[in-house]
Amino acid sequence: MSSVYFLKNLDPVKIKSVLPKFTTPLGVKVHFGEEGNTTFIPAEKIKQIVDLLSSPTLIECNVLYKSPRTRASTHIKLAKEHGFDFAPIEILDGEAGDEDLELPVPGGQHLKLAYLGRGFSKYTSVLFISHFKGHGLSGFGGAIKNIGMGLASRRGKLALHASVKHQVKSEKCLSCGACIANCPVSAIGYDESGKARIDQRICISCSKCLAMCPVGAINIPWGSTTKEIFCERLAEYALAAVSSRQCFYLNFVMSITKDCDCHNEPMPILTPDIGLLLSADPVALDQASYDLINNQYPEFSQFGGLEQLSHGEKIGLGQRQYELINL
Ligand code: SF4
Ligand code: SF4
Repeated sequence: MSSVYFLKNLDPVKIKSVLPKFTTPLGVKVHFGEEGNTTFIPAEKIKQIVDLLSSPTLIECNVLYKSPRTRASTHIKLAKEHGFDFAPIEILDGEAGDEDLELPVPGGQHLKLAYLGRGFSKYTSVLFISHFKGHGLSGFGGAIKNIGMGLASRRGKLALHASVKHQVKSEKCLSCGACIANCPVSAIGYDESGKARIDQRICISCSKCLAMCPVGAINIPWGSTTKEIFCERLAEYALAAVSSRQCFYLNFVMSITKDCDCHNEPMPILTPDIGLLLSADPVALDQASYDLINNQYPEFSQFGGLEQLSHGEKIGLGQRQYELINL
């Protein structure tokens, strides 16, 4: 049974009492919030935790879809606009999200390799600060999602989301050639009508073309993976990331929405704030966060996503049984 610590309000002294002594370099994995989103965990709250740590770096990876968070330079600019200016920031998968490292997935059933942001390799310890709320595809998003999806490079994010590769929407393509010039394996050429076309046999799913296309003509086949497999893949990526590292996890169970902080618009709050939970076990932490929401708002269970927990437990990421300890 894993210990999960609970406190109703953010109290830095109580949080410090359960944090481990981290080795360095220390990364703090956060989410800077999409442009227009109003329910991500505010920078001033995260700063109170980061101030407890010795020389941490805020770490994150780029996203797959078109947004300021698609490229490192605009991602960091948005983070600073959202108030994350109190510690160094590193976008681990580089400017275009194509700088990654391969890590084995121990005992992986869906995936043998995980592609994470390359910069992650230097961090010997990581504090994952996650916002626990609903998520359109994974049912809920907490620590496991913040690790598995949040640290994946663009190629890794695609491997999690899709079972087929990128395609070009011909009707949107301007034939500008930017994708062709930047594809690392020369998988793109023009078809007979002069529009870009991806050779699926050559493409390595790095997603650089998606970042370079000025008009969003590169299509991600989002619906090609089932929700259950997506959740199980998240757990496998999370296990690859935390293996051989000192990791600790903190969930904000606050601003509980149906969808995630990647939505570029305000979203309704489903139920009042619950508090903060901390643990050395990401499965127990997410299970406890999920249970506390369901006790208060039973409709949350309709979103599903428990495969993150059952598969996480099965592959050794953590255990679902926990003891809740009030701080
Ligand atoms: S995703 Fe495929 S087509 Fe696009 S740049 Fe990468 S290898 Fe080339
Ligand atoms: S970058 Fe986009 S618009 Fe330009 S050729 Fe490629 S798909 Fe077409």
